[in-house]
Amino acid sequence: MPYSNLSTIVNLNGYFKIEFCIFTCMKWIFSFLLLSSFLLQSQELPKGFSYVRDIAPTIQQELRYCNHNNFVGIPINGYEENVLITSTLTAQALKKVQDELLKKGFSLKVYDAYRPQTAVNHFVKWARVMNDTLMKQQYYPKINKRYLFKLGYIASKSGHSRGSSVDLTIVNLETGKELDMGSPYDFFGPQSHITFENITEEQKKNRRMLQQVMKKHGFRPYTNEWWHFTLRNEPFPKTYFDFPIK
Ligand SMILES: [Zn+2]
Repeated sequence: MPYSNLSTIVNLNGYFKIEFCIFTCMKWIFSFLLLSSFLLQSQELPKGFSYVRDIAPTIQQELRYCNHNNFVGIPINGYEENVLITSTLTAQALKKVQDELLKKGFSLKVYDAYRPQTAVNHFVKWARVMNDTLMKQQYYPKINKRYLFKLGYIASKSGHSRGSSVDLTIVNLETGKELDMGSPYDFFGPQSHITFENITEEQKKNRRMLQQVMKKHGFRPYTNEWWHFTLRNEPFPKTYFDFPIK
């Protein structure tokens, strides 16, 4: 109903006047809630950082440290929303990888990107509590928790806090499933080393595909984790950031 018609009714009948007022008030309240939820969810990122969705919106994501499916077993401090943040240069390089994969019917799926120092501190605190082994069977069945530091699985600083490291895999868009890489993401053990031999030819082929496309677009792999890459010309090689993910 057009507004001019409404105001005519308002003059004619007090009942409609009240209804009109409620309608207008509801509209304002709704707009206010929408705006405030938007403001709460986003934040102004440091210069040189971007939300990956703004540069490469088709990249899939599942921030494992934002939910319970990670080696600690609970959401990690500093991960407030399932949103990907990286240095802008990293996001632009990821877009090139994604464009190439899309042409072949695949997509990137990111498990972790920028990681606040607060989250790394949470890992360190957890690693010191020997009897907290909730996710041992899934993530570190053969490793004694007391050696996680010594073996390099947990450290007090992470390259991810510099904003240019990413953990990711490839999804087949036809099946919607992640490619079989021969070991799950974040598995602590030699099975996760890029060159681990005791996996199938198919799994080796999948790993090669990921390594090749990432290297081609400027990322450096990490020998011990098939999923981890860092941008070669990372813009903040010495700065460890600590703003939250939201
Ligand atoms: Zn990583």
